[in-house]
Amino acid sequence: MALGLLLDIDGVMVTSWKALPGAVDAVAKLYERGYPRMFLTNTTSRSRGDIAEALNACGFEVSPEEILTAAKLTAEYLTANHPGKRVWVLNEGPIAEDMTGVELTDDPASAEVVVLGGAGPVFDHRSLSQVLESMVSGVPVVAMHRSMTWSTAGGLSIDTGVYLEGLEKAAGRKIKAIGKPSPLGFRAAVDLMQLEPNQVIMVGDDMHNDVLGAQAAALIGVLVRTGKFRDEALRALQRDEFGPVPDHVIDSVADLPALVQKLAEQ
Ligand SMILES: [Mg+2]
Repeated sequence: MALGLLLDIDGVMVTSWKALPGAVDAVAKLYERGYPRMFLTNTTSRSRGDIAEALNACGFEVSPEEILTAAKLTAEYLTANHPGKRVWVLNEGPIAEDMTGVELTDDPASAEVVVLGGAGPVFDHRSLSQVLESMVSGVPVVAMHRSMTWSTAGGLSIDTGVYLEGLEKAAGRKIKAIGKPSPLGFRAAVDLMQLEPNQVIMVGDDMHNDVLGAQAAALIGVLVRTGKFRDEALRALQRDEFGPVPDHVIDSVADLPALVQKLAEQ
């Protein structure tokens, strides 16, 4: 069967921008075998160009065009749904490069759309209160993703999703989120690879955002036991006989070539 690969980056290929054991070899081996591939990340702290550069510094060979970031997908969403609007972005890190075609403003009071990127020190009390003010005033608020956590060398950090829940409750309104696990990114990647969803393998360390999100969009989900993977969370899921479970679980991306080989032969 024809297969394509969609790889999460953080926690699968790298942690704190250091390659995980065996990851460079596994990704190179799969590239040599000629599988179409893309990288799908909710990373909002770096542009596609910066991510490619950081991956290449770790020994991977990846080009910016192969990377779909939540910022890039959000820019496409804004162009399609809020064309020409002034957008205020609250994000930790410089991602303007991925938001070409969007009119950005530094003045939240005059913004016609508010975008929440990745959490960090910029998510302070004053800025989040401003977001709430926009929400209750009827300004559309879009989030690049609703990830709850990301893993760092020093442990877990809380991410945008943690704040979204509170803002939604306070404003009595929902915030549209674009990145994983929304089907938008999975579909965009499948289309770019010119495959059907059930021919694309999504590999991630986030059980809900990467794996179950992909499976809900009809892709094949593969969970790795690295990055933010927690055994207890997987066991809890497996105990629920009616809920979804990952299609495949592997110890790390180093085991991916063998799994892909097996699936390709089916
Ligand atoms: Mg990850």
